[in-house]
Amino acid sequence: MPEETVFTPWEVEGVVDYEKLLKEFGAYRVTDELLAELKKHTGDLHMLLSRKIFYAHRDLDLVLKDYADGKGFFLYTGIAPSRSTMHLAHIVPFVMTQWLQEKFKVNTYIMIPDEEKYLAKKASSLAKVDSLVEQTILDIIALGFDLDRTFIFKDREYIKHLYTAAVIVARRVNFSLAKAVFGFHGETSIGLIFYPALQIVPTLFEKKRCLIPYGIDQDPYFRIQRDIAPKLGYYKTASLMSILIPGLEGIKSKMSASKPETAIFLRDPPEVAAKKIMNAFTGGQPTIREQRERGGNPNICCVYQWFRILFEPSDKALSERYEKCTRGELLCGECKKELAERIKAFLKEHQRKLKEAEKIKDKFLYDGKLAREMWNWEFDYKTLKEY
Ligand code: SF4
Repeated sequence: MPEETVFTPWEVEGVVDYEKLLKEFGAYRVTDELLAELKKHTGDLHMLLSRKIFYAHRDLDLVLKDYADGKGFFLYTGIAPSRSTMHLAHIVPFVMTQWLQEKFKVNTYIMIPDEEKYLAKKASSLAKVDSLVEQTILDIIALGFDLDRTFIFKDREYIKHLYTAAVIVARRVNFSLAKAVFGFHGETSIGLIFYPALQIVPTLFEKKRCLIPYGIDQDPYFRIQRDIAPKLGYYKTASLMSILIPGLEGIKSKMSASKPETAIFLRDPPEVAAKKIMNAFTGGQPTIREQRERGGNPNICCVYQWFRILFEPSDKALSERYEKCTRGELLCGECKKELAERIKAFLKEHQRKLKEAEKIKDKFLYDGKLAREMWNWEFDYKTLKEY
């Protein structure tokens, strides 16, 4: 990466060189062979996989082997609310996780760190975080998780169950390592320095391999997990990592809560979302005549990328859109309108599902099958070799 690139879970700046990140983070490309292996179990492939939006992994091959051998695995993901409710870029790892859960019928743990962004000074107050947390949980449930195989927990509420394992993890991570991995500095709050230990704990919830789908910027936490877990007699966690999902201002932009025009929020009125799409950055030419003559560039177009990520399930239709764009047979206005219609339909349906989610929320937090088990879970530290 260029020298000026900042890349920690809290900050991503500069141009991201994904190829270089693989080497730097010790991760591997998701290959066609690996996807073929996955498909043997799932029957089909989600477009996030077949289109390599999730482009990197660690130990996904071992997860599949464990599954084939009957050992099983479990899923873990999460989101820390800061300034806004969820937007479309946020849901990508959740959509991936939900699909994997549905295909493999495995337990899924969803951490809601209701302290992280407050400690990182990205949230104005804890009260603001609390209200966002409740809305975020409903947004997650509305994505279709299995209510008996999913446990959603808030750190500050579930801390009694997490703390012993976090202490054991924390003792094994020294400040020099944490500073190097997370970019801590003199102004970092002491709470944030401890926080990574807590985020590792759910990987120890079961004595099976844990698979975590996430954006590659979250990788530092889990590289540390891989150093510690085997010493505690647990599996190194496996990862499925996505590219950074673009915002609406350009292919290298991010959806950002502080710039609402760059993001489609799940609670945006559908008409407001449609307007944002109509203003999105495209790869089109400045005039209709030039577009007809020279064609557009879908590779740098946010509209095309959003079709590719979530809103065009048909590979054939996606490739036709690409061809028509480059041949100048498609105009950006028309193309944006089509995406806006799809996003409007998605948001309407999501917002309808939120009402259902409200009714079943407690199953995920407290009284579904997995949630009930987890409220009795304690970290069995006395059986560790060293504790
Ligand atoms: Fe993007 Fe569509 Fe315009 Fe092509 S026609 S540049 S895909 S908005």
